[in-house]
Amino acid sequence: MRQVIRLLSSRGVFLHQIGEIVYRLQKPYLPSLAMEQCINAVETVLAKREVQYAVYTGVALDMLAEQGGLPQPLQDIVAVDEPLYGLDEVLAMGITNIYGSIGITSFGYLDKEKPGVIGDLNKNKGSRVNTFLDDLVAGIAAAASAKLAHNAKDSKSQGDGTFQA
Ligand code: MG
Repeated sequence: MRQVIRLLSSRGVFLHQIGEIVYRLQKPYLPSLAMEQCINAVETVLAKREVQYAVYTGVALDMLAEQGGLPQPLQDIVAVDEPLYGLDEVLAMGITNIYGSIGITSFGYLDKEKPGVIGDLNKNKGSRVNTFLDDLVAGIAAAASAKLAHNAKDSKSQGDGTFQA
C-alpha cells in the first residue's frame, strides 16, 4: 500500500485530501463522523489490490502522455483530456464498484462537482496530465464513502453504534 500512496503523493494527491472529500460526502448522513474515520476508510480502499492496479494503470497513462510517449491517436486524446474518451471514468468505476452501487452515485456526483483536490487536479496543471488521476481520486473517495455508509448500517443493525474499518 505504501507504493500506491507514494505514487499518489508524487502526483500531488495526499490521503487527507481524499479523506476531506469523503468527509464532505458522508457527514450529512453520519453526524458523528470524524475525519480520522474517513482517512482510515481511504486506506482500506487503497489496501485492495484491484484498486492499486487501477491507480498504477491510470497514472502510468497520464505520465506517458506527459512525456509524449503514447502511440497516436491515444497520445493526443489523453494529453488534451478529450471529453468523449470516457475510459478514465471506466477505469475509476472499477474502484467504485468494490462496495456496490452506492459508490456509483457518489462517483457521478464527484465527477460533476469536482470538489477539493479533484478540482485542483483540473486547474493550473501546467505540463501535467491528470486525465486519469482526477477520476481515480473520485473513485477512491466514492468507494471509501460507500464503505463508511455500509459500516454505519452494519453497526446500526448490530446495535453497538461503532464503525469498523
Ligand atoms: Mg478525467
